Amino acid sequence: MSDPNELTVLNPATEETVATVPAASEEDVAAAVARAVRAQRTWAAVAPADRARLLRRFADVVDTRAEELARLEVREAGHTLGTARWEAGNARDLLLYAAGGAERLLGRQIPAPGGWDVTFHEPLGVVGVIAPWNFPMPIAAWGSFPALAAGNAVVLKPAEATPLTAVRLAALALEAGLPEHLFQVLPGYGTTAGRALVDHPDVAKIVFTGSTRTGREVMERCARLVKPVTLELGGKSPNVVFADADLTAALDPFSFLDNSGQDCCARTRVLVQESVLDEARALLADALAAVVVGDPADEKTQMGPLISARQRERVRSYVPDDAPALRGGAPDGPGFWFPPTVLTGERHDSRAAREEIFGPVAVLLPFTDEQDAVRLANDTPYGLSGSIWTRDVGRALRVSQAVRAGNLSVNSHSSVRYWTPFGGFKQSGLGRELGPDALTAFTATKNVFISTEGPVQ
Ligand code: NDP
Repeated sequence: MSDPNELTVLNPATEETVATVPAASEEDVAAAVARAVRAQRTWAAVAPADRARLLRRFADVVDTRAEELARLEVREAGHTLGTARWEAGNARDLLLYAAGGAERLLGRQIPAPGGWDVTFHEPLGVVGVIAPWNFPMPIAAWGSFPALAAGNAVVLKPAEATPLTAVRLAALALEAGLPEHLFQVLPGYGTTAGRALVDHPDVAKIVFTGSTRTGREVMERCARLVKPVTLELGGKSPNVVFADADLTAALDPFSFLDNSGQDCCARTRVLVQESVLDEARALLADALAAVVVGDPADEKTQMGPLISARQRERVRSYVPDDAPALRGGAPDGPGFWFPPTVLTGERHDSRAAREEIFGPVAVLLPFTDEQDAVRLANDTPYGLSGSIWTRDVGRALRVSQAVRAGNLSVNSHSSVRYWTPFGGFKQSGLGRELGPDALTAFTATKNVFISTEGPVQ
């Protein structure tokens, strides 16, 4: 039974305690929001160029501390050093991108009879960000930094398993000279601090990333206050591999093993044209056997542990010991290990083929032709991401238009770039983060009509 007043952060690779952190109560959330309201009023009056300058200084501080942040992420989240370094770099890059956005948050002038019509993007006020444990630093950054750049204050609740890098980022913001209480991080439990943030009337918007189940609850609670909400939820993304594709690149196992599969964009439904199914199976078997699973702090490691014992149990529930599968290796305990796995005997409508497993497990499914590929790719309640592999340009275009997902790549497994919009179709979410409109998502558009009626002087 967890202590309601405290969070215990475990190293997923060793099961040792990394830190204990006080858990925010509902009163703590209310006090943080009150401080944020005051800080935001001052911040909104700061000239955009000065806001940008401070955010660039924050980026410099993050850059200087990138290795320290990355190593902390390795300890609290079990990420490999490579992933954790990418995360720290992503937070820095997004700060720089958002800083530029602060200087270009332009309104419009609309022709109007008898006067001028002008639009302004006004900050919303205090933004509440609720982050998950799978990418603690980037997801904290995506919800928070564009919001700050647009003139808002942020109160962020990280996941109970991974509060440490977010707490460190808030300390670095102060070190860089950002005003006090503008970017507050409150570690705590979802059902206490998370709900209190969602329900607080002075929190003008919620950005939530996590499971579809919790996202649904967050949206329902926001609806009571008519509060805008961005939801980045689950995925069960297809990797559509046609027979003419570069099979080795298309079947890169890190398209579903990255971050031990705890990635909402993981391509966990490997759809392969049946004429090359045997070849695909052989390539995947070799690739899984070669994956280096182990100590995430070792530079050579390619895949670390899962986040928790609970998550490992959840993943296990989809992979019975006797299930037909290709399997790689994994260390024995301590640590929350699970071997890289591709299930080969699933039907496309089975539980493992339809539900988000959030572990290093994919399903291999055959398709016959283009029409069948599109049908299978779309046969899921999710629509976050996906890849299409073919050398036929016309087919690549047709299939990418037909697949209902927010982030597709052709002949690539790339998903997230801070300069392009990110978000889901269907039950994968609502709204978009990142990209050219990242800042406007944290503003309200105000239109002012200015009459020019009167004699010309
Ligand atoms: P949740 O969606 O429950 O948690 C995400 C965040 O929401 C955490 O900060 C959590 O806090 C918080 N939270 C939980 N309940 C509430 C609530 N009622 N109101 C407000 N905030 C809340 O995910 P889990 O960590 O429970 O993971 C379960 C499954 O969700 C995973 O197995 C995976 O399938 C999926 N998932 C998907 C993610 C994605 O990016 N698509 C990310 C994470 C999980 P706390 O940490 O205290 O629970």
